Amino acid sequence: MNTADSVTEFEKVGCVLCGSSEHELQCTIGQHGLPAHVVLCKRCGLGFLNPRWTEERYSRFYAMEYDKYYRTYLIGEKGGKASGAQVQPTIPALVRMKQAGILPVKIDSVLDIGSGSGGFLLQMKGVYPSAEFYAIEPSRNCQEVLRKSGITLVSDTVNSDWDKSFHEKFDFINMRHVLEHFLNPLEVLTKVRGSLKENGLVYIAVPNSAKPGLPLLRYFFRAVHTYYFNRPTLLALAQRAGLHAEFILEGDAFNRHELVLVCSKGEIINEIPSAYAAQHDVFAPIIKHESSFLYKLKQVVKKALGRESNNTAD
Ligand SMILES: [Zn+2]
Repeated sequence: MNTADSVTEFEKVGCVLCGSSEHELQCTIGQHGLPAHVVLCKRCGLGFLNPRWTEERYSRFYAMEYDKYYRTYLIGEKGGKASGAQVQPTIPALVRMKQAGILPVKIDSVLDIGSGSGGFLLQMKGVYPSAEFYAIEPSRNCQEVLRKSGITLVSDTVNSDWDKSFHEKFDFINMRHVLEHFLNPLEVLTKVRGSLKENGLVYIAVPNSAKPGLPLLRYFFRAVHTYYFNRPTLLALAQRAGLHAEFILEGDAFNRHELVLVCSKGEIINEIPSAYAAQHDVFAPIIKHESSFLYKLKQVVKKALGRESNNTAD
């Protein structure tokens, strides 16, 4: 499943959170054997890909190749049937916000950024039947399914000026496992803030680098995850975008490896976290273990026996 990449398809970047260019390299190849030069910022502790694919290369990947790796059901026989519309669904975002006492009583308009084929929005429709539903989604396959479900496509990319036409439009914005995919998550969160109603909420869920799903080197680290957040770095990024944390959660029965942050509109706060040492101490022993001869030998044996380890979380 290797993809051939020329050197010109990569670009170098500084830390989006603190601006530092002092990084510590963690690995060069990630999930599916695709390139993943994961670095840790030595100043703030944010993890990110550097160098990484260019915007043009990522656009091509998401439009034409992503589904092949991550949404095989869309191109298989099942043909992209969105589930959950008939049965009263369990939506972790709503359950978690209800438990935290911050679930909005009324929701008139919902935006799902990185909606896929609209599974979440159709579930929300079961709970808020009179609301309007919007999506940002690059996959051509998914866009077709969204159209058939009556969901309005706002844009095929977060990098466009979509927010200008949707100023203070949304009561609720869902960003489940998408922030870690963006080229500039700070810019995206700033747009999100602008498109939220005064009392609107944004729900952000990302993989938690402080409690990563394993294996780290061949599963958690991946070409499509341009950023690797822990609690302090995610919180600091949201605050830099003018978002105020209403609720933070580090793993629960729904997903042990998830980091969830729900925000309302707030003031812009520029504080640089000191999360490098703690993050290094999480990654270093796992990388050492997964790089050992014995570990690799065990993986070869498992594969030969058809039991290749494969975690199912995002
Ligand atoms: Zn940094």
